[in-house]
Amino acid sequence: MKTSLTCIECPIGCQIEVEVENGKPVSITGYSCPRGKAYAESEVICPRRVVTSTVKATDGTLVPVKTERPVKKSDIFAVMQKINKATVTLPVKIGDIVVENISEDIHLIATGNA
Ligand code: SF4
Repeated sequence: MKTSLTCIECPIGCQIEVEVENGKPVSITGYSCPRGKAYAESEVICPRRVVTSTVKATDGTLVPVKTERPVKKSDIFAVMQKINKATVTLPVKIGDIVVENISEDIHLIATGNA
């Protein structure tokens, strides 16, 4: 089976073709750098995304957050449920952990000061 992907690792957006057999990539073409090849492999085997959102602070304001690394696409719904239930105590600085281990030892971190 052949799959076409647009690489999302940089704004160039290379078109990548992946030949997949038994759920594994056997041929990858069209990428311009190693990041694109790694993205295509990951997208076929276990697609992942960084989740960005906001968490409610104790004063009612919203603190911008993101997962420190991409989480499995299949885990995004569970991650969003945890984010929606979370509350953060102020003050918060960029990079502070807002929710520990939100998925597979990946923390949710603040992306803004509050
Ligand atoms: S393959 Fe490399 S150059 Fe092409 S879009 Fe992906 S990261 Fe950018």
